[in-house]
Amino acid sequence: MYQKLLEEIYAEIQPEIGKGKVADYIPALKNADPKQFGISVCNINQEVTSLGDAQQRFSIQSISKVFTLTMAFQVLGDKLWERVGKEPSGNPFNSLIQLERENGIPRNPFINAGALVITDILISLLDNPKQDLLSFLKELCNCSNIHFDPVIAQSEKEHGFTNAALVNYMKSHGNIKNDVEEVLDLYFHQCSILMNCEQLAKSFLFLANHGVIPHSNQRVLTRSQAKRLNAIMLSCGLYDQAGDFAYLVGLPGKSGVAGGISAIMPEQMSITVWSPALNRHGNSHAGMKALELFTTKTGISIF
Ligand code: GLN
Repeated sequence: MYQKLLEEIYAEIQPEIGKGKVADYIPALKNADPKQFGISVCNINQEVTSLGDAQQRFSIQSISKVFTLTMAFQVLGDKLWERVGKEPSGNPFNSLIQLERENGIPRNPFINAGALVITDILISLLDNPKQDLLSFLKELCNCSNIHFDPVIAQSEKEHGFTNAALVNYMKSHGNIKNDVEEVLDLYFHQCSILMNCEQLAKSFLFLANHGVIPHSNQRVLTRSQAKRLNAIMLSCGLYDQAGDFAYLVGLPGKSGVAGGISAIMPEQMSITVWSPALNRHGNSHAGMKALELFTTKTGISIF
């Protein structure tokens, strides 16, 4: 359906692909080929249009924060906001500074500190959070091959000193209830989950469909919760570039440091792009450009 448009975008962004820098603070990510680029659009009827490396799997990293937030929000509803805020941080995703000023309550669930609190909540709520998370993703994308990447999870564990600092600091303020090692282990695993553009595009469709998974008709979030989760993606999903993303792309979205960005247009579609080279905010450079072109050429926007 969008094949011609995607081809046009692909041709136009060729000079942008590879610009930026592949994340190297997680050693297992640094060998990714910066020239890779994939895009998938999935409409509300679950018709998928893809181009480039859309079948290539990559670690979803911070995109996982949307799925863990959904699982926690589903159970706790607005009680969740006692432990994490919903304001944009205006700071890098792994910043420590704000956390000290704000007594260990992270600004939002999409920066690392906030996601670590959500991970802690899932450990308290679930007997087997790792398996439950994978099962949830399999259900969302209607596929069975979703796994953790043990090499990436281990690499993050060995080099995750900043995340360890964040979780320990919050523990000292009583905002982490479980063992810090357990929280970090689940967090690194959720970041390591391997998915491709098509699987991610399908998985985000419930957020474009008022909280209901289109292929199974199963409700994941209430209509109001889905609307609110989208609001948080819009204001916080791209960290300290969320304003730019709203301005240039005009859709709620979420990025990850392996170069994926997923975005949704309510009642219409979900789009995932992937290209590993990042801009200085930790968001895919070519991915941002592609989404900007997509919404500019189609005129699609939530505004
Ligand atoms: N695993 C990464 C980290 O914790 C996730 C960050 C991201 O994708 N922005 O640093």
